Amino acid sequence: MFQINENYQKLPGSYLFSTIAKKVAAYSQENPDKNIIRLGIGDVTQPIAPAIIEAMHKAVDEMGNAQTFHGYAPDLGYDFLRKAIVEHDYKARGCQMEADEIFVSDGAKSDSANIQELFAENSRIAVCDPVYPVYVDSNVMAGRTGVYDPKTQMWSDVIYMPCTAENNFVPEFPKETPDLIYLCLPNNPTGTTLTKSQLQEWVDYANKAGAVIIYDGAYEAYISEENVAHSIYECEGAKTCAIELKSFSKNAGFTGVRLGYAVVPKALNCNGVSLRDMWARRHGTKFNGAPYIVQRAGEAVYSEAGKAQLKEQVAYYMRNAAAIKQGLKDAGYTVFGGVNAPYIWLKTPEQMNSWEFFDYLLENAGVVGTPGSGFGPSGEGYFRLTAFGSYENTVAALERILKL
Ligand SMILES: *Cc1c(COP(=O)(O)O)cnc(C)c1O
Repeated sequence: MFQINENYQKLPGSYLFSTIAKKVAAYSQENPDKNIIRLGIGDVTQPIAPAIIEAMHKAVDEMGNAQTFHGYAPDLGYDFLRKAIVEHDYKARGCQMEADEIFVSDGAKSDSANIQELFAENSRIAVCDPVYPVYVDSNVMAGRTGVYDPKTQMWSDVIYMPCTAENNFVPEFPKETPDLIYLCLPNNPTGTTLTKSQLQEWVDYANKAGAVIIYDGAYEAYISEENVAHSIYECEGAKTCAIELKSFSKNAGFTGVRLGYAVVPKALNCNGVSLRDMWARRHGTKFNGAPYIVQRAGEAVYSEAGKAQLKEQVAYYMRNAAAIKQGLKDAGYTVFGGVNAPYIWLKTPEQMNSWEFFDYLLENAGVVGTPGSGFGPSGEGYFRLTAFGSYENTVAALERILKL
């Protein structure tokens, strides 16, 4: 009789966003006349920019003609896209990455879940707390996290690095030495980030400890401050200790289009074994490439028109972020983030815990946010609002919250 991967049985409860969806559905059913505003899940709402749509239309037409039809894409992605990535995301920032260190994928979620395959089963992982759930759960499925304690909501073999108002959301170097360190900067869920010199300290730490940093840069496009790095490779020595994951979801609205990439530098080795070569092998075996049409759409992200249109889109969301942040601040809330990321992380008022505040906000304001505790124990007492709604909805939600 077949046996299942028992590690899946260890995963606690249901996924955060399904719990939220169930609560919202129940509330809507009981209150069919109430108009609910969703500032919960981190999905974009603005349509794909015109320059990108144009590129996609053109690529669709190419697919209908024998002379310009494209079948399987090259394993690691089309040269036109990898070259555009190298030029615009790296060379323009003084980082000398090469096209064969870029691996085009269908998004950063799958890359961030899959990357752990390259490492030994007994690798110790360190994560920020609160954290994007994918990093931990993918390691649970791989049997790397030990035993879950429902009381503390922690795994015995995971190293947690609390990020709270007390340490200004800057993780401290852990007491135990990790093998893999997941960093998401700017951060989901807290909306905060590190300065370039703080990130440099992490790069130095990883090189010294012989650890690899898995650097999730999904929110890079939202960086507004000068002293924040747009890529971990802006830090000296990062090529020997860091893998960078990027996504087209948040900067270009590709959440439903699907495109991302991973950077695995050739200088990243373990006893002479190249992680870049391992990831190339993995890609060749388990992935058949992102669609041609989508890679052409990705190329248009870097065109002059595309860049200008996306700058406006990011500015649109960041206007929401600024409105939420200022409004809540004026009303006496303690708020973080919203400067280099489209998330506002607020302290729940009056000692309410995260889920109590979720229910309170849903029932009294008809506004849906995300309970901080859903991202880890150190998220308790915090709450996340996203700036990804329409401006009208954002302002309306804010008005309702301020009336409470
Ligand atoms: C949204 C998000 C991603 C992007 O995932 P895609 O699969 O590219 O859509 C990656 N990491 C974090 C932390 C995110 O919030």
